[in-house]
Amino acid sequence: KRLENHFQFIDVGRNEPDKKLMQQRTTEYAEIYEPFTADQAAEQSHRCLECGNPYCEWKCPVHNFIPNWLKLVSEGNLFEAAELSHQTNTLPEVCGRVCPQDRLCEGACTLNDGFGAVTIGSSEKYITDTALAMGWRPDLSAVVPTGRKVAIIGAGPAGLGCADVLARAGVKPVVFDRYPEIGGLLTFGIPEFKLEKSVMIRRREVFEGMGIEFRLNTEVGRDVSVAELLEEYDALFLGMGTYTPMRGDFPGENLPGVHKALPYLVGNVNHNLGFEQDSKAYVNLKGKRVVVLGGGDTAMDCVRTAVRQQAKHVICAYRRDEANMPGSRREVANAKEEGVEFLFNRQPIEIVEYFGRACGVKMIETEMGEPDADGRRRPQPIPGSEKVMEADAVIIAFGFQPSPPAWLEELAVATNDWQGVVAPEEQTYKFQTSNPRVFAGGDMVRGSDLVVTAIWEGRQAAEGILDYLEV
Ligand code: FAD
Ligand code: SF4
Repeated sequence: KRLENHFQFIDVGRNEPDKKLMQQRTTEYAEIYEPFTADQAAEQSHRCLECGNPYCEWKCPVHNFIPNWLKLVSEGNLFEAAELSHQTNTLPEVCGRVCPQDRLCEGACTLNDGFGAVTIGSSEKYITDTALAMGWRPDLSAVVPTGRKVAIIGAGPAGLGCADVLARAGVKPVVFDRYPEIGGLLTFGIPEFKLEKSVMIRRREVFEGMGIEFRLNTEVGRDVSVAELLEEYDALFLGMGTYTPMRGDFPGENLPGVHKALPYLVGNVNHNLGFEQDSKAYVNLKGKRVVVLGGGDTAMDCVRTAVRQQAKHVICAYRRDEANMPGSRREVANAKEEGVEFLFNRQPIEIVEYFGRACGVKMIETEMGEPDADGRRRPQPIPGSEKVMEADAVIIAFGFQPSPPAWLEELAVATNDWQGVVAPEEQTYKFQTSNPRVFAGGDMVRGSDLVVTAIWEGRQAAEGILDYLEV
């Protein structure tokens, strides 16, 4: 009966998966959304209008076949949906959880115009989570090995995207990462309340089953030289991310009590996972008044981690207004629900000191000026509006710049004026660097961005490598 209803989008509204109760949510490091049941997934997927030229597919950076797999789920054909979903996306269950869907696929859904967009992200997550739990695995039995092998440096979404496409084409990927688990920022950055760590552990098993080899706890340049890799492998892919935090360049930034966002988050993840090697790396904000500076995904992860550490009061101060925040609207809403206070149009100008420790942030109010080169309106300070906000701990979450290793020079790989690796998409071999045998993608090429764009670049670079190797 459900399959015959062409007006499902009117009869059934957009329903996101239920969230856990607030007390449970804010005291545990676990995802806050309950999974869809089979009926919920089918009902929500069937709201899709199957537009002839689906905008959602265009807006999705990996160009998923969204209406097609939504139809398969609504018909109960889960394994076919998982197979189709994996043709374009290496980590569909991760993207379903962490993509800012409101700015991507769901933002472009035709039903977003008053009826409520189809719950694309939650359906994508449901398909892969459930299919994998039921025993579905990517089928590579028809793949013919070519005898070629590629070294991939970095097991983040870019490196994994590259490895996936190469393995399916019969080229052996060997992935090196300095960390003890795969995932890059998916494991050592994004907190458990958005993405539980078991997801990447299961993914590693799936990838290993596809013939992808991981050499973890192995830093290229320290534990193995890049010269050895060049000798042993037919090509290299660099997907090493961006790890230099942007500074505020205001007085007091180095005071005790001021923390950088990523070390704070990574220290907390390592503490939870039992990977902690130095107890000083773990910062516990229990009982503290916390101010987080910044308005992106990293800032949202910091405020929500501080809530779970039982901070007394958590404030997020951002220099633009709410409409111009760069992060996912969904995560801002989740942070608000969890008790985080937002101060918009506040620009920090000094961390105030008391007996050698941070005790507050001096901020000046701003108003929105003309748009900058990215089209976002520039904040203009309002003279005379300075005020000090008291704080026991301040977290700086202003984003990241590339951190290219010294051995890039040895490889003759060119970087641009902001230290990003130059590897254009539009050329004979996509994402090839100035060294013909070396390809690159993800944050270290495009600057800090999204999981899904890193996956796309890794997958496209693999196409470039296959063309270059003529396999
Ligand atoms: P990374 O994920 O950084 O992976 C790079 C890998 O390279 C790492 O594992 C690193 O250990 C390894 N590596 C580096 N150098 C070496 C070396 N010499 N030898 C061996 N290994 C090396 N995006 C979203 O879409 N949604 C979100 O909700 C979201 N939240 C975020 C929250 C935080 C706190 C942060 C920091 C980012 C967030 N992002 C989010 C952005 C997203 O995580 C990144 O854009 C994405 O992970 C980039 O992928 P990548 O593969 O290029 O790099
Ligand atoms: Fe939407 Fe991201 Fe999935 Fe694409 S990968 S369909 S943008 S959730």
